[in-house]
Amino acid sequence: MATAWLSLGANIGDPRAQLAQAVQAIADHPAITVTAQSSVLTTAPWGKTDQPDFANMAITVETSLEPIDLLDVLLGIELAMGRVRKEVWGPRLIDIDIIAYDRLVLKSPRLTLPHPHAHERDFVTVPLAEIAPDTVAWVMATGQNLA
Ligand code: ADP
Ligand code: MG
Repeated sequence: MATAWLSLGANIGDPRAQLAQAVQAIADHPAITVTAQSSVLTTAPWGKTDQPDFANMAITVETSLEPIDLLDVLLGIELAMGRVRKEVWGPRLIDIDIIAYDRLVLKSPRLTLPHPHAHERDFVTVPLAEIAPDTVAWVMATGQNLA
């Protein structure tokens, strides 16, 4: 079993409802157990600023899935919830990112761990610090070195 920390965000539709729906879908997966949930934070958009505010949260999961298979499950949940990728950092019904997977450092075409932008995004680190302060410290230190 591995421990992974996920960041969820939404800023169109009913963001808080979509976060709850995504957490439920993750928890329903037979190979994933949700073990902690942060509170939901409302944040101004990052990167592309002319769009609605985001609702963000973090969760801790235990999983028997390998990192790339976990990513595929999460992308599948995004798709099932109707996410359409139009522009990078643009408005989204739901975004689910893997912030860290154990203490694995990985750079592959489809997956970078820890998440390459996590250490510079308060909307990731603030909710995650509620449930996993040690992991936030590790992501901050490791992300700085990766960049
Ligand atoms: P973003 O989350 O940066 O707004 P997307 O959700 O559209 O952008 O993700 C684009 C791609 O980022 C995904 O298809 C995935 O392959 C890649 N990716 C790389 N590292 C990660 C990670 N740690 N977590 C989630 N996606 C990642
Ligand atoms: Mg994403």
